[in-house]
Amino acid sequence: MHKLTFTPASYTGWGCLNQLLPEVEKLKANNILIITDPFLKKLGLTDHLEKPLLENGYSTTIYTDIAPEPPLAIGEKLVEFTRKHHFDLVIGLGGGSALDLAKLAAVLATHDGKVADYLNLTGTKSLENKGLPKILIPTTSGTGSEVTNISVLSLETTKDVVTHDYLLADVAIVDPALTISLPPKVTAATGVDALTHAIEAYVSVNANEVTDALALQAIKLISGSIRTAVHDGQNKQARSDMSYGSYLAGLAFFNAGVAGVHALAYPLGGQFHIAHGDSNAVLLPYVMGYIRQSCEKRMKDILDAMGISSGYLSQEDASYKCVDALKQLVQDVNIPSTLQGFNIPEIALEQLADDATKQTRILARSPMPLKREDIYTIYRAAFDGEV
Ligand code: NAD
Repeated sequence: MHKLTFTPASYTGWGCLNQLLPEVEKLKANNILIITDPFLKKLGLTDHLEKPLLENGYSTTIYTDIAPEPPLAIGEKLVEFTRKHHFDLVIGLGGGSALDLAKLAAVLATHDGKVADYLNLTGTKSLENKGLPKILIPTTSGTGSEVTNISVLSLETTKDVVTHDYLLADVAIVDPALTISLPPKVTAATGVDALTHAIEAYVSVNANEVTDALALQAIKLISGSIRTAVHDGQNKQARSDMSYGSYLAGLAFFNAGVAGVHALAYPLGGQFHIAHGDSNAVLLPYVMGYIRQSCEKRMKDILDAMGISSGYLSQEDASYKCVDALKQLVQDVNIPSTLQGFNIPEIALEQLADDATKQTRILARSPMPLKREDIYTIYRAAFDGEV
């Protein structure tokens, strides 16, 4: 048996931000908190939301005291702020960092205690209600946060999550027009993040027919368009494919889970403040190379979905070719292909392996069980550049 969970309402497609006003009307909100990052406000992206809301008599507050890969303290401060005011709707606008904070603030506005109390690894409290309504509007094509029930926070040496279906958006609005301003480096990192979601969902032990369909279509769209989106950011078709692919990948991994790549990426992000997409991207070929034997048939399918025909290749040969294709893709979008390329010192590998081993919930979805020695071997390969 498989349980599938989807956000109640989603809009996708160029210009679909025009659905915001009707959705706000349906939610009967009046006092609206918009959570976004300061750079997006400076870019003027918030105007596209705020103007129509103000013109229609809504009261809005824009909160920008946030940062990429948000540390726990930023979450605590935002939740305190949200509790003090009487908002009746939270809108998140931005990449995964802003969206994760928006859902956290919306839910914890109606709870007691600290954010830390609700963390997955160390928290002691459970969420009791869905809090304020939330509308999530991504401006990166990466995390799929607009359709997941996860909020990720950075801790001192790793990352942890608050996760519950109460964190699901009431409405997701996925308008690729909002991603046109993404610089190549962020397009690359977030795009490979989305690809990683789709690939890990497809090889997950929890995969099912529905998540398979979502994941394969996401792999096709993202691998077909990521190079164009990175090198020609104004290309509307590539931006649309990336947005839709990232949304589908979000639905896939939310329902099937991610695994080894994410478990190893979290400590990299936590300890070295490497962007989440970059952490996933540098590890993707090495983790897939290591677990290859446990999912050869699925890797053959991934290769086909990437538009590289596996033809008459055996499953084993196709799985090797898939690893090569992933390595090539990461290089083509100019992401360093080794840990050394991110200035990770060799001495850090042991601690990274210790921390990744603690991500038991995520590791449980890997088609190949990954113990501490496996995890160390993968980090070592990623350090040396030997898939
Ligand atoms: P991000 O939100 O941190 O944004 C990265 C950078 O891109 C920021 O500097 C931001 O200002 C800029 N940016 C965003 N949109 C832009 C635009 N349209 N134009 C120009 N610049 C823009 O990046 P992200 O990768 O989207 O999110 C990363 C966070 O999401 C991490 O904390 C990660 O752990 C988390 N995450 C959450 C989920 C989930 O399901 N909730 C899944 C994966 C990752």
